[in-house]
Amino acid sequence: MTENKTNFDVIVIGGGHAGCEAAAAAARMGAATLLLTHKLATIGEMSCNPAIGGIGKGHLVREIDALDGLMGRVADKAAIQCRLLNRRKGAAVRGPRAQADRALYRQAMQAAINEQPHLTIKPAAVDDIIVENGRAIGVICAEGAVYKAAAIVLTTGTFLDGVIHLGPQRIPAGRHGEAPAQKLAKRLYACGFRMGRLKTGTPPRLDGTSINYAACEVQPGDDPPRPFSFLHSHITTPQINCHITGTNPLTHSIIRENIHLSPVYSGQIKGVGPRYCPSIEDKVARFAERTRHQIFLEPEGLNDDTVYPNGISTALPPAVQEAFVKTIAGLENVTIRRPGYAIEYDYIDPRELYASLETKKLPALFLAGQINGTTGYEEAAGQGIMAGINAALLAGGGKTPFILDRADAYIGVMIDDLITKGVSEPYRMFTARAEYRLTLRADNADQRLTPLAIKQGCVGAERAKQFTRKQKALEKARQFATTHRLTPNAAQKHGLTVNADGIHRNIIDLLGYAGITWEKLASIWPSMQAWPPEIREQIETDAHYAGYLDRQKADIAAFRRDEGLALPHALDYMALAGISTEAKQKLAAARPATVGQAARLDGMTPAALNVLLHHAKRAQSTSKAGQQAD
Ligand code: FAD
Repeated sequence: MTENKTNFDVIVIGGGHAGCEAAAAAARMGAATLLLTHKLATIGEMSCNPAIGGIGKGHLVREIDALDGLMGRVADKAAIQCRLLNRRKGAAVRGPRAQADRALYRQAMQAAINEQPHLTIKPAAVDDIIVENGRAIGVICAEGAVYKAAAIVLTTGTFLDGVIHLGPQRIPAGRHGEAPAQKLAKRLYACGFRMGRLKTGTPPRLDGTSINYAACEVQPGDDPPRPFSFLHSHITTPQINCHITGTNPLTHSIIRENIHLSPVYSGQIKGVGPRYCPSIEDKVARFAERTRHQIFLEPEGLNDDTVYPNGISTALPPAVQEAFVKTIAGLENVTIRRPGYAIEYDYIDPRELYASLETKKLPALFLAGQINGTTGYEEAAGQGIMAGINAALLAGGGKTPFILDRADAYIGVMIDDLITKGVSEPYRMFTARAEYRLTLRADNADQRLTPLAIKQGCVGAERAKQFTRKQKALEKARQFATTHRLTPNAAQKHGLTVNADGIHRNIIDLLGYAGITWEKLASIWPSMQAWPPEIREQIETDAHYAGYLDRQKADIAAFRRDEGLALPHALDYMALAGISTEAKQKLAAARPATVGQAARLDGMTPAALNVLLHHAKRAQSTSKAGQQAD
């Protein structure tokens, strides 16, 4: 692969969460990669809340880590409060989350990017994409520099024609204090992409020294804190407490009286915002019956006394923000360091993409992150790593892209949702979006994905070695657990209650019983005491889900059968008989890759799917006949 001053294998535009993963993944694959981003100092910047993970999002971080991505490792270095959310629920829906020191996160991401071999980083604003013979072949920067590559990954976040709204003010910006990407936005419209406007918002930042914490509830983290990365055994950063307070009827009445001054309600903002992360104006208007909305007071860093009040994102004028914030317990005398604001930006309809994240209209151009209509660092990073891998594969002449399906990973669920259904509001991940969530657990992300990533060549030596070591220990423990059994009589002698049905039960079977603990079994088979904690936990979780997982395996096999039925790319949907015009139009616009993907399009009927099935099978038998003739 070539590397000189202006020619690269892969160019990544944007050093945010998608861009860092894309650039590092492409470079790990050995592609000569160039990362172009506005400012080196803002690489890895957390534009909004200083936290990584959470429910659904934590799964994405573990999956990114299992593909040898950066987010989990970097978050561990910056984590100042770790908590496992949904702890009381089953392992499948528990979400690891870390409050991050904003500066430490940025520093750790910049260090990881800087030490990545095959990666060149330059500060530049990209204004234009060079297209030759209908293919993206390079970029032009604002100061005129031209760079060429076999594949380009665009990860511009909220910067495409970004506009900040603060009360009646409209300020062109990519985020606070940074210029938007206006020329590039125009260029993308000119390329014919379907595009739209979305919005998101951020709360005011508070001076932590002016908060009366005695009036707030203390929220401690987990002890011990658990790392995200499969490479790390513990967290070394000092851990801190967060605090909880809440709004009250007085807060709500100030917001209600001034709601006409919010750009969201005055009609100034046209873009749709995230329903699951609403502004405080939205919460007060939509949930009028509620008298309190919870606010988490999250420190932005160990050496930074700025506090992020999670839960009161707002674009009301600064004076109104000041008035309503001061009604909140503990914040009566608070100093606002920076007002909250909303931002509106362009996104590209993700139905413009293949599952590889390459655009259908402009071959060799890949998109990842907020530009595809998602919100959140983790969603961006999950797309970034896939786009980076696929860009490197394309640049290396590979024909088969690396695709994770809905049964492989949350990343697969997200990408399939985006390219099949598009977005009507900023898309964020939830565990409820995954139909196979008992299989797609955060704890087993490495076993699901690291072997696939090793095959693609995007896993470094350290991870590969560590993974092999863990797999060996797991196999040994599984072998032991499946070959050591008790009869009902023997179980009873040890004080374990099982049915007296003559069935010999192994350790996995026994661990599946509610009252039978690992400690109890380890007292019967003392060699189990030597199992490392992560091995023990894995065996216990597998045992807990064993019965359900068998059923889910059958569902996954049925899903994969439909996913295996490829639809001919050139199929003339408008000419198909037995399908409604509406369904034909949807199919022609989406051009689903498989019968399975077609079934997930809105409005598909069983009759339409039958017709598609017929065409997929005919294509399959034609291709088989062709192979035999060859
Ligand atoms: P970003 O992190 O935005 O990174 C984009 C990068 O591209 C930047 O480094 C930028 O400098 C660079 N860039 C852009 N255009 C060019 C160009 N033409 N040339 C060179 N470089 C370029 N997420 C949530 O989950 N919840 C929230 O409540 C939330 N609120 C938010 C509030 C605000 C005000 C903002 C700005 C974002 C918010 N987000 C929120 C979104 C979150 O920040 C993004 O989802 C995430 O950062 C997206 O990652 P990304 O990599 O796609 O883009």
